[in-house]
Amino acid sequence: MPRGEFDLIDEFFNRSPQRSDVLLAIGDDCALLEAPTSEVIALSVDTLVSGVHFFEDVPAKTLGHKSLAVNLSDLAATGAEPLWCTLALTLPEIDRHWLADFSDGFHALAHRSGIDLVGGDTTHGPLAITVHVMGRVPKGNALLRSGASPGDLIYVSGPIGGAGYALEFLRNPELKADAFCLKCLQEPDPRVTLGISLRGLASACIDISDGLAADLGHILSKSNVGATIHLEKIPVAPQVRAYMESIHNPGFPLCTGDDYELCFTVPPHHQSRIDAILESLNLDGGCIGQTTNEPGLSIQSQQGALYLNRSGYEHFR
Ligand code: ADP
Ligand code: MG
Repeated sequence: MPRGEFDLIDEFFNRSPQRSDVLLAIGDDCALLEAPTSEVIALSVDTLVSGVHFFEDVPAKTLGHKSLAVNLSDLAATGAEPLWCTLALTLPEIDRHWLADFSDGFHALAHRSGIDLVGGDTTHGPLAITVHVMGRVPKGNALLRSGASPGDLIYVSGPIGGAGYALEFLRNPELKADAFCLKCLQEPDPRVTLGISLRGLASACIDISDGLAADLGHILSKSNVGATIHLEKIPVAPQVRAYMESIHNPGFPLCTGDDYELCFTVPPHHQSRIDAILESLNLDGGCIGQTTNEPGLSIQSQQGALYLNRSGYEHFR
């Protein structure tokens, strides 16, 4: 890497580590990290590509936040405590204002989450951001997609569909913009504390990145169970509800992604503890249904059962 670019890394990304297990961070050939002795490492990586995962004109600060948030969300879904991350940035040009804003958003969330940026790579090309996170979780305590049993309660950690509605109004200026939904899309709050609190209580967990139906579907297929969920029980912000009514699509929150709430299952005897945890964390989530012996996802509503078609869950039968 040319000297000038190395100075940029120093200026925008090299911060003093907050963690004592970071022995050497940015600046050498490798970072040196003290491995936990009694816990296992949870590791995940996600890439955001301009024009695919975000609009090209998205504010850099929110992009810095989101590129870390989507990865922290994977740690949350595993019940892991964030430790370290790396950042591989492909940049079309060196824009110092953009870099300052991007790194502000990234570092603010990193600081808040107790994770240290310990290395990365910087290359020239179309804008793309790859973040790699590592966390720790006690052996045997990780939350997996595969642990649900028939009869478990299905929960979501908060309102669904906000990010999806933001995508709609960013594409269509005739729709009413909404600050809460824009924040859901651009600055999701990864549910790390909740994930850690669910250790030993939740039987399975996933973060909702692709849509509730698809992501719950992963739990169902990995756990070999089915589920019945109740449409009216899915928490939805009032402005999203109004939009769903205007487009006559009650299944909207099942199919829109990018919310980064957790979807998890719990044995019924843990219900009151889960409700207390959600309340103590100020999360507007709740139980939306139950797993079953019968394979497949059945969606019930006051108007009858809802069925999937290619463009989403749109019609009742
Ligand atoms: P190398 O040539 O060994 O790959 P680089 O010159 O790419 O090293 O990087 C120098 C140092 O800067 C390394 O410690 C690397 O981890 C760090 N680094 C490079 N790019 C980034 C980035 N975007 N964010 C954080 N650290 C970075
Ligand atoms: Mg390199």
